[in-house]
Amino acid sequence: MTSRPDLLQGLADARARRVGGALGRRTRTVGRDVAAPVSLFVDGRRLLDFASNDYLALARDAAVVDALAGAARRTGVGAGAAHLLGGHREEHAALEEALAAWTGRSRALLFSTGYMANLGVLQALLAPAEPTARTTPALCVQDKLNHACLIDGARLAGCELKRYPHADVEAARRQFGTRPGAAAMLATDGVFSMDGDIAPLRALAALCAEEQALLMVDDAHGLGVLGPRGAGSLAESGLDETAAPVLMATLGKALGVAGAFVAGSASLIDGLVQFARPYIYTTAMPPALAAACLAAVGIARDDGERRQRLLLNIERFRAGAAARGLPLLPSRTAIQPLLVGDSVAALQAAQTLEAAGFFVPAIRPPTVPEGSARLRVTLSAAHVEADIDGLLAALSRCLPRSGAAS
Ligand SMILES: *Cc1c(COP(=O)(O)O)cnc(C)c1O
Repeated sequence: MTSRPDLLQGLADARARRVGGALGRRTRTVGRDVAAPVSLFVDGRRLLDFASNDYLALARDAAVVDALAGAARRTGVGAGAAHLLGGHREEHAALEEALAAWTGRSRALLFSTGYMANLGVLQALLAPAEPTARTTPALCVQDKLNHACLIDGARLAGCELKRYPHADVEAARRQFGTRPGAAAMLATDGVFSMDGDIAPLRALAALCAEEQALLMVDDAHGLGVLGPRGAGSLAESGLDETAAPVLMATLGKALGVAGAFVAGSASLIDGLVQFARPYIYTTAMPPALAAACLAAVGIARDDGERRQRLLLNIERFRAGAAARGLPLLPSRTAIQPLLVGDSVAALQAAQTLEAAGFFVPAIRPPTVPEGSARLRVTLSAAHVEADIDGLLAALSRCLPRSGAAS
């Protein structure tokens, strides 16, 4: 018998290489307290949290917590089954209706996570309907900085994936040109998760209209933050269901809960129900979470003052960082990365900040491109001016002034 390579040893070797290159990751166990806004506790020490995607402070909002607890008391915890097998409750249906109305779409469909939603949509639309049929593979054109799950979804679908340099609409056009006549989709983050900038959505929609390609936008970081009534980046750009037929967004970021949805036409949603495997073959999200999401949607939609506080915090951070010459990236969203470049330097800066009482993660390759390690600061409506000023002072002690970051 020939000997086989040892898979566990291969994994251990890869890990050793990664950790050696200052690219290792570790899970931190943190504590939280609903009474302590924007704080987390590590080994008993309180840190100010500048890492959370809970932009509207809904994860600890009393009305959202009460909705969760109340629904759990009424209906129990788990859904008990998949949506198609008796797990789809009134709470799910009410949430889907509210999400469709909020985003100005005909229908919405819940998924348990954003990762699964993207896998499901791309596989349902791009995988050959009958695996044996001899059809040419569909084309999926994507921004190079798209979230990992959009990339993985295209790979899972077995389509042809072509990526274009970040936000470069003409480069996207050239990618379509490589496969004229092929069924095609363009998928992009609405707000880029590690950069905070917004995709050129109107230009991409116009390109898709010219190319007869389907536009899909992942608005995980835009929903609740951008647009009239927080309806997201597509609403801000005035792109309706015809111009942007596939909208995906998550419920675990600005909405502070968990889960995700896809919104669009009735025919899109009906098709996903039949073919999106991550919808079909998984347990429905706990109905109490859906009830909590519904409460969060109501606040995110109607509490403009909360969104205004977030926007003021973003402005204060940017103005202070610019005044101190910190290496800001062009973002007007809650994601405000500071470019460091070198992974070791980014990690050291994060450790210095933590010692000073601020939790800001260092984001390193492969999450971001080689040589573009950064501190990813995220802001929340619950930060107060002193939190932001304290962070800025700590940042200017541990980061080089901009220009040195190249
Ligand atoms: C977080 C995120 C996802 C994944 O959503 P989860 O619900 O956390 O699985 C998808 N897309 C983008 C752009 C994200 O930032």
